[in-house]
Amino acid sequence: MNRIYFITGSQDLYGEETLKQAANDSREMAEFLNGRLNDIAEVCFEPVVTTAAEAENVCVKASADNDCIGVIMWMHTFSPAKMWIRALKALKKPMLHLHTQYNEKLPYDSIDMDFMNLNQSAHGDREFGFICTRLGVKREVVVGYYRHEDVIEKIRSFAHAAAAVNFGRTMKVAMLGNNMRDVAVTDGDRVESEIRYGWNVNYYGVGDVVSIAEAVTDAEIDAKLAEYNEKYTMATDNAASVREQAKYEVALEKFIEKENIGAFTDTFQDLHGLRQLPGIAVQNLMAKGIGFGPEGDYKTSALGAVLFKMAEGRKGATGFMEDYTYDLTSGEELELAAHMLEVSPVFALSKPEIRVHPLGIGGKEPPARLVFDGIEGEGIAVSMIDMGDRFRLVCADITLVKQPEPMPKLPVARLMWKLKPDFATGAAAWIYAGGAHHAVVSTALTKDDIRLFAKMTDTELVIIDDKTDINAFEQQLAMLDAMAKIKR
Ligand code: MN
Repeated sequence: MNRIYFITGSQDLYGEETLKQAANDSREMAEFLNGRLNDIAEVCFEPVVTTAAEAENVCVKASADNDCIGVIMWMHTFSPAKMWIRALKALKKPMLHLHTQYNEKLPYDSIDMDFMNLNQSAHGDREFGFICTRLGVKREVVVGYYRHEDVIEKIRSFAHAAAAVNFGRTMKVAMLGNNMRDVAVTDGDRVESEIRYGWNVNYYGVGDVVSIAEAVTDAEIDAKLAEYNEKYTMATDNAASVREQAKYEVALEKFIEKENIGAFTDTFQDLHGLRQLPGIAVQNLMAKGIGFGPEGDYKTSALGAVLFKMAEGRKGATGFMEDYTYDLTSGEELELAAHMLEVSPVFALSKPEIRVHPLGIGGKEPPARLVFDGIEGEGIAVSMIDMGDRFRLVCADITLVKQPEPMPKLPVARLMWKLKPDFATGAAAWIYAGGAHHAVVSTALTKDDIRLFAKMTDTELVIIDDKTDINAFEQQLAMLDAMAKIKR
């Protein structure tokens, strides 16, 4: 069970009565928040901190607790911040600094100096904020009354992001084959990925899955086909091709289970022993939260699994997409995103159809795949690239739209979207930033969720949204390059 420690700061100058009151108030606040967060993590009340030793102890305890995904800190009273130095140096978990109060309104009639002594987070949280800034501690500051819905939503987003980061910390990513030959953006530093995100990325021969596939029984394939028939509409008479894919999915499931895999890649350039590129087999797995990157794109695969985790319990869809082609009609520009097979059915507008078509690449048998039109709505596209000395996340706000006309000859699933702030600026900014043609698209998450993830993992982030100005954006990129050189 994920845990979030609720840590309240004070000091020992106030006397027993004030500290007792601070403890009671904090416990009540922690219990309230637990009621609103316990579908993500248990919020655990910790005894009010009054000394440097107590501060250090609770931060060491949180850091050593594998189930602790983050801490919420706030200063009920004043808490001289030198007592937090050792503690903050020891803290290894994401921190939410909750700038709140036990009371919502001021008690104008009764307020006196006792009340002021007890309830002074406006004072104490600034002292605490200073030492965090002085020490360079990355944290999320959430401001407002802790029972207000907008504040609770922000705390929940923090918890979702922290849970996703924690999930990634022990995630295994399997590359079946390597990345597509000569492609730059899908390559990356796998050692650095593990240092920064915990993603343990390893190569496996596709033969490992082939040998599992050869042992898959007819009964197992029949069970998988029953699952397909329940979820999707059979729109092909090529039953053999669908059976072949069902066999691959059963084999991939076994491989994933055996190796404890959270995300994987394959590549059409390395399919020895497979008669088709996995299509519906991969699509059906993606919808269950298994990360996937085609052409050996391990970064998108891992990011997909982590963002799917972050979106757990939220409305909306999350999955891998690829920028493909445009409608460049002036003023109504649209992007058509798809892939040669592997689009997650979470994006389907209506029940997907199982179809079999030849693949124009790779020289294998025509693979069965799910074909559908995409959903509409506000979303984000997130791309992770390796700059050589650091990773960069590019996050763009997009608006998914209904495709204007049917595309009866397009044999793959697709989404269409509009760029922000306008087509030319949005596309240019993405290209200046080095964003890949592969991204994780989500209508469940927002750029704020990605900002939290970037902060918790100390990853560079650039955002493209309705406020993006191309000149300022280019200057931001230049500044980030300069900053990276200074850090190195
Ligand atoms: Mn691709």
